[in-house]
Amino acid sequence: MKNILLIGAGGVGRVVAFKLAQHPEIFGQITFASRTKSKCDDIVKDIVAKGLRKPGTEFAEIATAEVDADNVPELVALIRDCKPDLVLNVALPYQDLTIMDACLETGVHYLDTANYEHPDTAKFCYAPQWAYHERFEKSGIMALLGSGFDPGMTNVYTAYAKKHYFDRMDTVDILDCNGGDHGYPFATNFNPEINIREVSAKGRYFENGQWIETEPLSVKKTFNFDGVGEKDMYLLYHEEMESLTKHFPEVKRMRFWMTFGQSYLTHLKVLENVGMTRINPVMFEGRAIVPLQFLKTLLPDPASLGPRTKGKTNIGIWATGERNGKPQTYYVYNICDHEECFAETGAQAVSYTTGVPAALGAKMILSGQWSGKGVFNMEQFDPDPFMAEIGAWGLPWKETWPAGKLE
Ligand code: NDP
Repeated sequence: MKNILLIGAGGVGRVVAFKLAQHPEIFGQITFASRTKSKCDDIVKDIVAKGLRKPGTEFAEIATAEVDADNVPELVALIRDCKPDLVLNVALPYQDLTIMDACLETGVHYLDTANYEHPDTAKFCYAPQWAYHERFEKSGIMALLGSGFDPGMTNVYTAYAKKHYFDRMDTVDILDCNGGDHGYPFATNFNPEINIREVSAKGRYFENGQWIETEPLSVKKTFNFDGVGEKDMYLLYHEEMESLTKHFPEVKRMRFWMTFGQSYLTHLKVLENVGMTRINPVMFEGRAIVPLQFLKTLLPDPASLGPRTKGKTNIGIWATGERNGKPQTYYVYNICDHEECFAETGAQAVSYTTGVPAALGAKMILSGQWSGKGVFNMEQFDPDPFMAEIGAWGLPWKETWPAGKLE
């Protein structure tokens, strides 16, 4: 049994806490820390109310703590105090490097679900975290990056597709559909600041060794998603493409698609046009404010969407290539129901689909099923044990060999 420190008590942190609590045979002592300790306490109360980690049993305790994860000495003190075998980071991407620094200083494994971003620049890439590889290797510890759904599960799907169904994989399309409806005209399903930065950036896809840039949300396709129905999906740049194109250099074209409803797009356009999505400060009544951060305070808290959201998500990868000299198409995906996720954990499916692979990723490391020294992405490990277990952890998958094309 291992000890774990979980940092970040948003929607994703809630799901991870539930999943860790459901597996006392793996995760012995859990310490749950965030900037606002009361949010951890509230989640732990819900976990205990569900009959998990009953008071009085051997593993009753989920300790909670307050931590500013931007502050390395504070993190180091917390890690020394609770002595985890792994730190699972589901705070914001801004905290990735400070938490990695604290893990290096204390010799503890690290896992996250989103790659590092600087708060002042709406740009993310793996370079700052990959730059830790040698230091993690020398310290004999492991960092697993991007262990959510996308990135995360989509990386494992890609590795699984290549391992079992392709001699040569030519194209990969990642298809991310949220068919859920929360009833608000505009809200984001995860942290609004991170979400809007991602969606309002230029699109980018990989073709024949080059990245091709597109105007934000300018390339559209319609796709019929199992369990959801026909939806418009838009080409975006997404972080797993950086590591997947590196680790599967044979792939000639890689694209990422996400569905958006018309109401979301219209609101986003208006907010952009009036400057509310800007991330550089403006002066307001003698005080500097960042419009996007102000907007975040006005929008519904993603954690509050759970009880209102109905419908399903469907996320997967569609790959083409060759097997035994013949063309092959393979599509693997998960369907997740918002209301079922809420009934189990009190969070909607976007948080659920992120939190479950994070918890299983932690299990892979702590059980030694995935091991290594240095900094790794999900697709660098054998996908089979992950695919074998993820269904039982809450995200079963379906696979098909479609005859149609996705052009
Ligand atoms: P939320 O904004 O709901 O929660 C973030 C949590 O982190 C909050 O509890 C917040 O504290 C805490 N936090 C923020 N800054 C600090 C800090 N300096 N020190 C300590 N705690 C801090 O986000 P989500 O739960 O929706 O997302 C969590 C992570 O998951 C994000 O990194 C996001 O990008 C990633 N993600 C990954 C996905 C994937 O598929 N790979 C999909 C969706 C999300 P407070 O409550 O005080 O604000």
